Amino acid sequence: MELSTPIQFVKGIGPKTAERFAKLEVFTAGDLLQLYPRNYVDYSNPCGISDAPFDIACVVRGEVYSKSGETRVKGGKRMAKVLAGDENCMLELVWFNNPYTAEKLEVGQEYLFFGKVGGTFTKRQMIAPVVHPVTGAPPITPIYPQTEGLNSAFIGRCVSNVLEQLSEKLPEPLPEEMLVRYRLPHKDAAVRAIHFPASLDHVLAARRRLIYEELLVLQLGLLLLKTRDKQTSAPILEQVDLHPFFDSLPFRPTGAQQRACGEILQDMQKPIPMNRLLQGDVGSGKTLVAAAAIYAAFQNGRQAVLMAPTEILARQHAATLQTMLEKFGIQTALLVGGMRAAQKRETLSAIADGKAHLVVGTHAVLSGGVQFSDLGVAITDEQHRFGVRQRQTLAQKGKTPHLLVMSATPIPRTLALLIYGELDISVLDELPPGRTPIKTFAITSKKRADMFGFLQEQIDNGRQVYLVCPLIEESEKVAELKSVKTYLEQIVQPLLPHCRIGLMHGKLKPKEKDAVMQEFKEGLLDVLVSTTVIEVGVDVPNANVMVIENAERYGLSALHQLRGRVGRGGGESWCILVSDHKGESVKQRLRFLCSTTDGFKIAQFDLENRGPGDFFGKRQHGLPGLKLADLMTDTRTLKAAQQDALQLLHTDPRLDSLPILAEQVQTLFEQNTAMN
Ligand code: ADP
Ligand code: MG
Repeated sequence: MELSTPIQFVKGIGPKTAERFAKLEVFTAGDLLQLYPRNYVDYSNPCGISDAPFDIACVVRGEVYSKSGETRVKGGKRMAKVLAGDENCMLELVWFNNPYTAEKLEVGQEYLFFGKVGGTFTKRQMIAPVVHPVTGAPPITPIYPQTEGLNSAFIGRCVSNVLEQLSEKLPEPLPEEMLVRYRLPHKDAAVRAIHFPASLDHVLAARRRLIYEELLVLQLGLLLLKTRDKQTSAPILEQVDLHPFFDSLPFRPTGAQQRACGEILQDMQKPIPMNRLLQGDVGSGKTLVAAAAIYAAFQNGRQAVLMAPTEILARQHAATLQTMLEKFGIQTALLVGGMRAAQKRETLSAIADGKAHLVVGTHAVLSGGVQFSDLGVAITDEQHRFGVRQRQTLAQKGKTPHLLVMSATPIPRTLALLIYGELDISVLDELPPGRTPIKTFAITSKKRADMFGFLQEQIDNGRQVYLVCPLIEESEKVAELKSVKTYLEQIVQPLLPHCRIGLMHGKLKPKEKDAVMQEFKEGLLDVLVSTTVIEVGVDVPNANVMVIENAERYGLSALHQLRGRVGRGGGESWCILVSDHKGESVKQRLRFLCSTTDGFKIAQFDLENRGPGDFFGKRQHGLPGLKLADLMTDTRTLKAAQQDALQLLHTDPRLDSLPILAEQVQTLFEQNTAMN
């Protein structure tokens, strides 16, 4: 078997299972090896029942004392209970609708139980633990991310089959000298160890190795992009006086906006294409800066394009920019997916003959049919939703235009320099004056009823509210988390009986999401219950309360982004974080968020104190190919990898001496970075 062998030829996997693996983006044997365990269970080292931490899965050892038969409980569930314990402490084991595991246990025998300890200090409890006899328990067992129909144990068997059937060792992409220098295991050993480690130390070494490799490939890729761009030539723009544009605005641009505009204009006067990232917290006024770049291109007789990740955002931008720019004679065209053929043809021809000076659209602007007459600047908004590759495709429209990427994800500057290796950076570190800061509170669910009373008041005053609850994987039925629908039906509807409530979740098609969002925007809904798919950047000025349930599940930066959806209109606005988590570090994180609205401070705090459960994690930056590495926490490795990448390219610009590594870099940006 080769790494490129399609997954259905792996022993144990048929076409049905292959389809399920496809959902995890696993298509080949090689992909499966890169489906790394999320965690491990170490049966060799059980802890005492009284020492077991609450709410963190662990293995305990105990003797079965007694079993009570099945009983029926509220809601019609059947419940089986077993009482176990060790010399210090008792433990009650509970199974719902599963009598079999309990039946097999023998009174007087010792077992290993894997699960989360809950209950109270005096009465400890484990719900539905995995059970193994004390002798013959497996060693360290990997836990894989699960999906419908693929459980962790099955994935483990498939991985094991691949590792057995591979015709040769996994090839080594890294130079030997580097492995020695950092004392890293070989690729083959690392991949085997990360799946089936002999000890947890082996896992650490394997992770170190694989993270380093991922980051090195990433840095090489970014550096190669950067050099390629520097070699092409861009349309040079004449100097433009921005005063007429600034004077036409209903407000004065902030110092930060003026500075960013200046940096952008300078770039655009150079013969090499601009590659600039504009970072600014939500509400910092990035649109105005984009408008200035568009204005400058127009004054030079060139076109501009702005790409937004969703149709509704594209429409919003088109409307805003048109209002700002039309007085200068700038014609704006909107290009989105579902346009009627005739209308689309008309728009495309206006773009091709230069009648449309500014094109605003979704990724529809990337399609082959879009030909610009003379494109000067290409802008992407909320870039973390786009892959690096899409950014590049946009940059290839026209004759390598200047490229401006806007992002609201606050990343500390040092880190941004590493991540966006190929981009220069402008920062909007100043909010326009006169904003009333969003008031943020953290509450427990005991106060939920009161909170809904407050929401009702706001709604009665004609305002709108967002209610965010975490996205639940089908397989992840954690008891206290309410999936969106039950949350809606059991909590929101009863507590807000006469309100118009919309529902938004990841399973909706893009069109359906847009439709719900549009209704909310038009005020046809009072409440939007949503998973975190709420469109980043959509402006609903009338919405002034954001409630986030299970707030402990998110990183602070993610919470801050969500919070940025409110406070866009006049008057007061609130963000309410609901969490029953008892951990001190979680409470401290939430308190920090309540105490500041500075996105960069928050990002810095996240970086230094990242607690568990940073939800968006790896997807947020829009970079491909990172399976293990985490840009927020692996910063030291990231720096080392950047240095090494520079060094490698310095001595061997095309990586001829490292063909496997070169191939990995090559495929890095070709991966599917489809938006959802
Ligand atoms: P974001 O950076 O989140 O994209 P926007 O560009 O949407 O922010 O701007 C947020 C709001 O602030 C808009 O309503 C915009 O008109 C307003 N705004 C932008 N710049 C200024 C300014 N200098 N003074 C006052 N209001 C401004
Ligand atoms: Mg914006």
